[in-house]
Amino acid sequence: PETITIQELANRMSERGVDVIRLLMKQGALHKITDVIDADTAQLVAEELGHTVKRVAESDVEEGLFDMPDAEDALESRPPVVTIMGHVDHGKTSLLDAIRQANVVAGEAGGITQHIGAYQVTAPNGAPITFIDTPGHAAFTAMRARGAKVTDIVILVVAADDGVMPQTIEAIHHAKAAEVPLIVAINKIDKPDAKPERVRTELLQHEVQTETFGGETLEVEVSAKEKLNLDKLLDAIILQSEVLDLKANPERSAEGTVIEARLDKGRGPVATVLVQRGTLHIGDIIVAGSQWGRVRALLDDKGAVCPSAGPSFPVEILGFSGTPEAGDRVAVVESEARAREITEYRERQRREKLVARGGGARTSLTDMMS
Ligand code: GDP
Ligand code: MG
Repeated sequence: PETITIQELANRMSERGVDVIRLLMKQGALHKITDVIDADTAQLVAEELGHTVKRVAESDVEEGLFDMPDAEDALESRPPVVTIMGHVDHGKTSLLDAIRQANVVAGEAGGITQHIGAYQVTAPNGAPITFIDTPGHAAFTAMRARGAKVTDIVILVVAADDGVMPQTIEAIHHAKAAEVPLIVAINKIDKPDAKPERVRTELLQHEVQTETFGGETLEVEVSAKEKLNLDKLLDAIILQSEVLDLKANPERSAEGTVIEARLDKGRGPVATVLVQRGTLHIGDIIVAGSQWGRVRALLDDKGAVCPSAGPSFPVEILGFSGTPEAGDRVAVVESEARAREITEYRERQRREKLVARGGGARTSLTDMMS
């Protein structure tokens, strides 16, 4: 059944908690500010205090915000979104940097100038690939825990001189649980003690069957240091994405996920968002977690302004009123009123959970006494 804490009920009515408690006391029930009462009691209290009550279910507030189906013929191919995982020191950062640098057009002013948490590169066949630049299992699991699925393909980096290690196995489990296919990048093959065959054998023991061994997992021997076979790795990603037949409808209001967000001194809240469906435009009203805003500017991974961003495109968004959190899902809504309704509702939910856990009890009591 629906419930609410007395503190939250008081907040929503802009009444003092003590007045709610006094009223309940008159009806013979002794309560603390942190107690939870049912919706019917709450409605009686509210009406007693002269408020009109509109009961709104969660499903109503968030209704239609995400995952509304698209017509099959509205779907178009979209670039793959790739995350790099693997054991510490096996070369995740080096590989990401090498791929990005190899892709910088010769003579491009300043090379990589602006750097956001995700970037696009071009495969040898001209197709774009989006890399999420947050190697680390923590980020991956955090996003999954929030219901955000951003990755289409995981690149599993295994150092050829070190082999399968605990975080390698962890990454395999993450990818399996998320049902995301792996491509193995056997790294550091420039090293004299590199043993790529040993890596394949060890992977087999963890149910990763590489192509060489007759399995379905693509593997590429690379060297991030010597920039060897990076093109082959990009080719493998394109091949895998063709198998996955990745599609999205670009002609609808945008949905996406916050990859990272921070408060910039000059520009205010800045969020890197991966657009996953639809197209995001300047002027759109967006919600993310308990924050909302009107898109004031969109910047691509090189810091260049762009008027819009379609599926699989990572962009920096300026215009949020507060800083959202990594993993928050982003949606475009039709009006500021709707954005407020959704974010205020979520904020209430968040506070309620805090109070229920006892986190807000102390301040609530102080409020009540003052
Ligand atoms: P991460 O912890 O997985 O991000 O690993 P890093 O990218 O920080 O690399 C760890 C170390 O391995 C660094 O000293 C790199 O210079 C080195 N390294 C990375 N890739 C290669 C490679 O292909 N060959 C060699 N010889 N060293 C590499
Ligand atoms: Mg690193």
